[in-house]
Amino acid sequence: MFERMTLFERAVGAETDIVSKEMFNWIDDPEISNALKSLRTVMQDTKSIPSVDGSAARLKLEALARSGAFNNLAERIRIALRPEATASVCRAYIEREMQNLPQPVKLYYMGPMFRRERPQKGRYRQFYQIGAEVLGGTDAPPIDAEVIEMLMTFFDKCGLQGATLYINSIGHNAENCRRGYVANLKAALEKVKDKLGPDSQRRIDTNPLRVLDSKLESEQAIIATLPHIADHLCDECKTHYAEVKRQLEVRGVLYQENWRLVRGLDYYMRTTFEITAPGLGSQNAVCGGGRYDGLVELLGGPPTKGIGFAIGEDRLLLSLQESGKGQVQQGRDVYIAWMGERAYATAIRAAKDLRKAGFSVELPPLEQKFGKALGQADKLGARYALILGDNEVSEALWTLKTLADGTQQKLTEPDLLQFLRDQKPTSQ
Ligand code: ATP
Ligand code: MG
Repeated sequence: MFERMTLFERAVGAETDIVSKEMFNWIDDPEISNALKSLRTVMQDTKSIPSVDGSAARLKLEALARSGAFNNLAERIRIALRPEATASVCRAYIEREMQNLPQPVKLYYMGPMFRRERPQKGRYRQFYQIGAEVLGGTDAPPIDAEVIEMLMTFFDKCGLQGATLYINSIGHNAENCRRGYVANLKAALEKVKDKLGPDSQRRIDTNPLRVLDSKLESEQAIIATLPHIADHLCDECKTHYAEVKRQLEVRGVLYQENWRLVRGLDYYMRTTFEITAPGLGSQNAVCGGGRYDGLVELLGGPPTKGIGFAIGEDRLLLSLQESGKGQVQQGRDVYIAWMGERAYATAIRAAKDLRKAGFSVELPPLEQKFGKALGQADKLGARYALILGDNEVSEALWTLKTLADGTQQKLTEPDLLQFLRDQKPTSQ
């Protein structure tokens, strides 16, 4: 969960919203942090560095400040809560020398991410992502299509309905491709500058692509008139994009093109995609992803192709719940009603066997009358009650009650276990 802040500044980009506004980071040494603060205050006050009055750390910092290594030190000990994990995966790929494994390396992660955002439905300061990355080997379009196909299959298996896949290509960082487009876009934006809000006005200089991302109602009509990146892609990126689309079609994956889909992170190139789901209001993106061929190299590793995605797990669950799909199955498969010490020993054995076979079993820890036990089995929504009393144990015939219709049958232990094993566990 912790990374050096510099990782994200380099990978995600210092001018992105995530890094410039949404990250939790701090200097991970209270003494140095305090000394830095007071040093900064004093420096601001007097424009000079005091040489007296200080702890050892402070004196050391003063020396560092004089030698110019001041910022370097602060950089080295600045720690962040990760806002996303692709940069971390690439860091790990390099550290673990995964380029020496058979390529591509396919990795996944699940875990908490942290962003200083305004909390609201579907937007939290600690949220969870499920992500996957394909690193190394080729950047052939079938890889992009297969990653997306896997995603859509996953959503389908979860029972998510109404998921819409949006795709785009944002080309690569070259004059005859994205850089040319961005210059073009910037020029077009300058012309309409006074019609844009302050955020977009600022982005004309810092990150013009991000203007396309604006959700401001008043800006939509203006944005619609801006140039499209598709008209500025170089031949290779154009071909790559066309082939990604064809590969999606071959796989029967439905998509919509969205020329404004630029994604909020600097490392993306060529294929970008996003998936939206119903029931989430304006926070309707449940997954974002794209290709990031230069990222590993940017972080000090060998040139490496890469593509991946991150699913917003919280939003996925919200959307499933909205459609009535997110309910956790209540109830038990088997409730074991037992009476007597001997029966309890048998019940423990039966519970173990049934749990091993995949059934959820409720085994009451204290003895209770059968009537009460069966009432509880009902309340818990159990499918079966296995009744074990003195008679059952001495006759070696167990009683099984099907709670839905109240029918009972007497079976030998092996027959009964077999009967239940032939039924499908519902709690899986
Ligand atoms: P948004 O436009 O909604 O802010 P994003 O572009 O910042 O999304 P990504 O960085 O692409 O999001 O992260 C991938 C996914 O993680 C998003 O599609 C979303 O489902 C989820 N996600 C991002 N930020 C949050 C958050 N603060 N709370 C919950 N889920 C989030
Ligand atoms: Mg965001």
